Amino acid sequence: MSFLASNYNRRKIGFKRGKGSFLFSTDNKKYLDFLSGIAVNTLGHSNPSLIKALNSQAKKVWHVSNSFQIPEGEILAKKLAKKTFADKVIFVNSGAEANEAAIKIARRYFYSIGKPYKNRILCIKNSFHGRTLANIFASGSKKMTEGFGPKVSGFDHFKYADIKSLKSKISKKTAAVFFETAMGESGIKVHSNKFLRDVRKICNEKKILLILDEVQCGIGRSGKFFAYEYANVKPDIVPIAKGIGGGFPIGAVLMTKKVSKCMTPGTHGSTYGGNPLAMAIGNTIMDQVFKRGFLKNVRKNSKYFIDQLNLTKKKYPNVIEEVRGIGLLLGLKTKVELGTFINKLTKNKLLTIRAAENVVRILPPLNVKKKEIDLALKIINKVCSEY
Ligand SMILES: *Cc1c(COP(=O)(O)O)cnc(C)c1O
Repeated sequence: MSFLASNYNRRKIGFKRGKGSFLFSTDNKKYLDFLSGIAVNTLGHSNPSLIKALNSQAKKVWHVSNSFQIPEGEILAKKLAKKTFADKVIFVNSGAEANEAAIKIARRYFYSIGKPYKNRILCIKNSFHGRTLANIFASGSKKMTEGFGPKVSGFDHFKYADIKSLKSKISKKTAAVFFETAMGESGIKVHSNKFLRDVRKICNEKKILLILDEVQCGIGRSGKFFAYEYANVKPDIVPIAKGIGGGFPIGAVLMTKKVSKCMTPGTHGSTYGGNPLAMAIGNTIMDQVFKRGFLKNVRKNSKYFIDQLNLTKKKYPNVIEEVRGIGLLLGLKTKVELGTFINKLTKNKLLTIRAAENVVRILPPLNVKKKEIDLALKIINKVCSEY
């Protein structure tokens, strides 16, 4: 009997140790970890640079609160601004918080320019932005909101990849369009560059903000630091989390100077957000991800992995319907029962995780080795051959 509430569907495996792309279970089995704590462990497990950063900061100071200057946070904000569209950053602790802050910033921006009626956020129907009250209603998913009413108002929804539907839902009250650049939880669905450019154009015409949720697809997961870079568009607000902490809880909202002006003292805050421990880790992740050749290697491994998975699909068309994804945010849409498929992979010591639309997500650490991808492919092919 467990004293933990039953809100998770946990697999009956626990781990005592991790190293690189591998996890070692309490019953002494070695697993290839290709879910990376849901796109979190950017550099795998027990990364020496991260251990060093954490230990070194732990001996100095852990937490002081945002009532004071935090030099480590100044450094991380500067690194993020130098490498992206952003001019300003607010640190929080998780993806859901980053998204909530993004929504607040969009509304506050229009309030600050004398248009407080522009406060509605236009999202994709059946998307995913986290589990807080505002975010579940932003997702427009029946399953996530069931029993959690009254509804948090202020969100409208358009159909995935449907520019007409998006246009038809924009009103005088719309403040921002808000969606994931490449959708993870909702089934590894990557927006086309054209769609992203069209949305940017519409936002410019209508003078509304573009918020791109890069909580899962950001920090190199897509093969670029941010997935929107492929389309060469410039968002106004970008919430991030998962990958920037590499396993330490960190979230952040990146924004332009124009938008940031509305966030005057007292408008937002977080006790833990951006504490020295978290910032030491974030700085190390940034340094590693921007090391020469790191992102290029993600793209190279991605191409190899996708090509090989397509061969598997060709060989087992009765099992795999489609290979989806970008960078190392990959998915296999299966024709077979998903839970069973994932269990079979697990039995063969490959850890993956489900997404919507009968898709199994494959999310290796970004510093995965080619021979580890080959091992995963071997296991996937073996499982497919058992159908
Ligand atoms: C995981 C995720 C979130 C929520 O992040 P938490 O840290 O679990 O709150 C929000 N948006 C996207 C796209 C995510 O993948």
